[in-house]
Amino acid sequence: MSDLSDDELDRYARHIVLPQIGGVGQRRLKAARVLVVGAGGVGSGSIPALAGTGIGRLSIVDDDVVDRSNLQRQWLFRDDQVGQSKAGLAAAFVEAVNPTVEPSAIRARITATNARGMLAGHDLIIDGSDNFATRLVVSDAATALKIPLVSAAAAQLQGQIGLFRGWEDGQPCYRCFVGDAFDNDDCDNCAERGVIGALTGLVGNFAALMAIRHIAGIGDDVAGKLFLFDGLSLNLRPITIPKEPGCSACGGSHAEDS
Ligand SMILES: [Zn+2]
Repeated sequence: MSDLSDDELDRYARHIVLPQIGGVGQRRLKAARVLVVGAGGVGSGSIPALAGTGIGRLSIVDDDVVDRSNLQRQWLFRDDQVGQSKAGLAAAFVEAVNPTVEPSAIRARITATNARGMLAGHDLIIDGSDNFATRLVVSDAATALKIPLVSAAAAQLQGQIGLFRGWEDGQPCYRCFVGDAFDNDDCDNCAERGVIGALTGLVGNFAALMAIRHIAGIGDDVAGKLFLFDGLSLNLRPITIPKEPGCSACGGSHAEDS
């Protein structure tokens, strides 16, 4: 792992002073390659956090362009950027926040055909996409490639965030939670149900915190738990997801492969 420059020692002083992170943790963060699926509301919470944190390489996948109705929650973007590529703008945002991070913009829609190719070479995936079909494609690819997945979603006044390592013995994947009924649910406009921007931002920040904890190797291992946050009661409730023995992604013979 490479050493930290004087700029980085200054930049990350508030991390390095934390006994749980220190110089060792900061070098782990610098060495990490994280891919974020979706530069939407959740991405607007997680991408700036990961950029400031000093994740070494940050890939951002999104095939969409900025719409005026996004600006209420997608704070990566400005009013004068309506119509421009979200992935490209998000990568430029990262570069402006922290020139020591190497961003890469992937202007494409993630599908069952290309998912493994896009995810390969990364140490952790954050999925902030807005539909079940994409979430399941991302989860299946992450499970097959044995890459930890932080899945994060927000709708209306509810948020959910979980860390999954479904290839491990007894560990569920995201598909264990959702099942097989939503593979064709590629509704792009689920957000039309409405959502509060501060909630998507909070969920995105929570996902970034889970990623940072995992990469730096600090805190309890929360894999297989889903954290449900309710914006009305403000309750945060962890639920344990059981591994489905018949899960098409991580169950049966697939689990025995590893
Ligand atoms: Zn599973």
